[in-house]
Amino acid sequence: MNHSFRHPPFAVLKETLPLPANAEEYLQSYDGWWQQEGKAMSSAVDRHRTPWLKLYNTRGERIDEIGYPSDYWKMLRKGYDSGIIWRAFEENSLMPFFMIGYICCHYDPGLFCPYTVSMSTAAPLFKYGNDFIKKNLLRPMLAKTNAWQGATWFTEIKGGSDLANNTETVATLKSKAENLWLLNGEKYFCSNMGGDVAVVSAMLEGDKKGFDGLQMFVLPKYNRAGKLNYLAKRIKDKIATRSVPTGELEFKNSEAYLLDENIPGIYLIMEVLNISRIANAVGSVAVAHRAFAEAYSFAEHRVAFGKPVLQHPLLAQQFEDKSKQLYEAFRFVWYAAELLNKVWQQKPPYSADYHFFRFVAHVAKYYTAELAAQTAKWSMEVHGGLGILEEFGIERLLREAMILAIWEGTPHRQILDGLKVLLRKDVQDRLYSELRPALSKEDFENIHQLIESVNEPPQNEKERLIGYVFPRLAELVVKGYSVKKDAKVISN
Ligand SMILES: Cc1cc2nc3c(=O)[nH]c(=O)nc-3n(C[C@H](O)[C@H](O)[C@H](O)COP(=O)(O)OP(=O)(O)OC[C@H]3O[C@@H](n4cnc5c(N)ncnc54)[C@H](O)[C@@H]3O)c2cc1C
Repeated sequence: MNHSFRHPPFAVLKETLPLPANAEEYLQSYDGWWQQEGKAMSSAVDRHRTPWLKLYNTRGERIDEIGYPSDYWKMLRKGYDSGIIWRAFEENSLMPFFMIGYICCHYDPGLFCPYTVSMSTAAPLFKYGNDFIKKNLLRPMLAKTNAWQGATWFTEIKGGSDLANNTETVATLKSKAENLWLLNGEKYFCSNMGGDVAVVSAMLEGDKKGFDGLQMFVLPKYNRAGKLNYLAKRIKDKIATRSVPTGELEFKNSEAYLLDENIPGIYLIMEVLNISRIANAVGSVAVAHRAFAEAYSFAEHRVAFGKPVLQHPLLAQQFEDKSKQLYEAFRFVWYAAELLNKVWQQKPPYSADYHFFRFVAHVAKYYTAELAAQTAKWSMEVHGGLGILEEFGIERLLREAMILAIWEGTPHRQILDGLKVLLRKDVQDRLYSELRPALSKEDFENIHQLIESVNEPPQNEKERLIGYVFPRLAELVVKGYSVKKDAKVISN
């Protein structure tokens, strides 16, 4: 087996994907920067733990600024300046974002979070923003230096899975002519707190409840009078993505703009999640790749019973199996990213391609997050006792991997929403027709039986069964699309 994943991310991207002509140079340069400078900065920043909150300036005025170790800022700016956001809009393709993100996440999984939420903010502003929003809020996000950062704040204290029933932030119309709304409420999990502009969910004031009242707004950090537009309550201490501030926020008559009053807010929120879920999947494979590479270089040199542990049959077989699993997941996420790239600019009513993409996205988010956590855990085992020590960096990978399954929707959410879209006939027909030539007869029959088993039962029974069905189905779907010859992986 050719263990490609022992190499750094640029080498693997170059070997495995037909990279667009201009991408080689900027990807190689970004990867080189990480090896020479970024890696050391990243470990130091992680050891520094969470950023801190500075609530007041010396005149006693509220400023709610976040303090970072200076190296964090350097690492963060490197990605923005390398074009992780602006290239997507200049080239009309999300692929530069995902490719730069893959390299970033390999070296610093937490750092991919601010870029992901920035892209998930810029995309809806680009699609739905009016002239005012595009000029004043999107344009600064696409600047080539000192670009503004975005953020996506939906979750409140009552819970993130059921936004329609658990969103208590209220939006009141201030000026119809200016599309200006005032938000009041609190958000409990706000990653990239301190972002310059955020997309946030809120319920329209009035009688509309649940999905009917839920809308998505864009909210700048400073209001029209130049005053702070949201207040920080605290920054969370957490085990993963320690360098990124995740905080709790309060909106008090905070100025915001409705993105599109004619489209139910949940559609816009799902469009945001489409991007962040594929970013999560790309990042998860990058984490698994790093965990594999660290395990490989350790096992090559660690000697037990007279030879490197890599050469003992049990471990050699595990490396074979992990390589194969990683290769399949790698091919699948780039297939998923390519599908997203085709549909992300669609607006409701969506096409059949969009619905098919949604199924692929649930599989990708679910499967790769689990792969990242399992591969990091296995890498720790390969390192033996040394894996537990902070200085070897594997405990960090495991910590970082644990969040990948939870944010952007838990595994249960992926399974249940995956079930919903799997029940569409067009999605099933496409899966069958595309996977029949790619899988063995036995694997194909398995897929067929798994899908059939959830087609007929009543809803409660479907939901009970899908917990068994989805993991196996996901494995077969990933395998099928990873070998499918015409599953396009990055177009030139
Ligand atoms: C570090 C970090 C950063 C975050 N950053 C952000 C951010 O920037 N913006 C943001 O909006 N959110 C953010 N989140 C929140 C995250 O998206 C939520 O934690 C996640 O969506 C799950 O919501 P919850 O934690 O409230 O769990 P809940 O929704 O309360 O769910 C609790 C449990 O019940 C399960 N469950 C729920 N419904 C069902 C069902 N129908 N059937 C079966 N099981 C079910 C869930 O899967 C979960 O296991 C962040 C979270 C963390 C930890």
